[in-house]
Amino acid sequence: MKAVVVNKEGTWVELVERDIRKPGYGEALVDVEYCGVCHTDLHVAKGDFGKVPGRVLGHEGIGIVRELGEGVKSLKVGDRVSIAWFFEGCGCCEYCDTGRETLCRTVKNAGYSVDGAMATQCIVTADYAVKVPDGLDPAQASSITCAGVTCYAAIKAAKLRPGQWIALYGAGGLGNLAVQYAKKVFNAHVVAVDINDDKLALAKECGADIVINGLKENPVEVIKEKTGGCHSSVVTAVSKVAFNQAINSVRAGGIVVAVGLPSETMDVSIVKTVLDGIEIIGSLVGTRKDLEEAFQFGAEGMVVPVVKKRPIEDAPAIFKEMEDGVITGRMVIDMKM
Ligand SMILES: [Zn+2]
Ligand SMILES: [Zn+2]
Repeated sequence: MKAVVVNKEGTWVELVERDIRKPGYGEALVDVEYCGVCHTDLHVAKGDFGKVPGRVLGHEGIGIVRELGEGVKSLKVGDRVSIAWFFEGCGCCEYCDTGRETLCRTVKNAGYSVDGAMATQCIVTADYAVKVPDGLDPAQASSITCAGVTCYAAIKAAKLRPGQWIALYGAGGLGNLAVQYAKKVFNAHVVAVDINDDKLALAKECGADIVINGLKENPVEVIKEKTGGCHSSVVTAVSKVAFNQAINSVRAGGIVVAVGLPSETMDVSIVKTVLDGIEIIGSLVGTRKDLEEAFQFGAEGMVVPVVKKRPIEDAPAIFKEMEDGVITGRMVIDMKM
């Protein structure tokens, strides 16, 4: 098979030819159709979470089950399934038992702690591979597998209700899907904040009511003036400034959900937090159930990821473009191109 792996030095990506093993007990072998490229892949490739030389990258995979190992009851050959960052939990800890499986302390992550889906084939743990519903385009499904479900779960964590205002900091690959889920699934009013006009134009097209370029205007002032303060905010931007603005954009009783991962700290006013009763929550990808729901809204056409298909040979170039911040929408590797 062809695979995009972390190089020997653990610092960047390379395309290699490799064999794949047989699926073991409870596993399935999947012919990958599409795999999205995510900012997290860039962090893994560069060793930001610790070096993983030789690891097959990719956690936005969609493919067709080709072969089952022994003991698999949840899948059959021919099923279309996802390969997500949440690759497998232990299944028996406090978090796995209470609907918070993504917090499992012994979690396995595709494309980081186990080989992922940026390859023509991969092995999945069958019970953790979420089925893709009929009617959902598989290339679009790849984006929902990570970006989509991450936004959907974050907005759920924000306890957003119809008609409320939400501020979305970051309107890129992730933020664009957040705009769509907030607007079309949760029926909210949406403010999108970014520092890139192209990304803001896309947010507007996808239904954002107000767009703000943080380099040209002060988002906190504009939000206060036009909405009286949002009910919640979700930060997918990888910037400390955005986190601080997000906290200052919510009204009393507001909820701030942190998704982006800048290696910095945010400045939280204790007085504002206490007097205004502000909640600050971290949200990491989504559970299998979240993904099933996020897929279904995609299948019903309520959320349409903007994807661009590229051949696997382009992988190193895509990583470079991502590092340079010049990508709008999501890049998806098409294994048949
Ligand atoms: Zn991702
Ligand atoms: Zn667990």
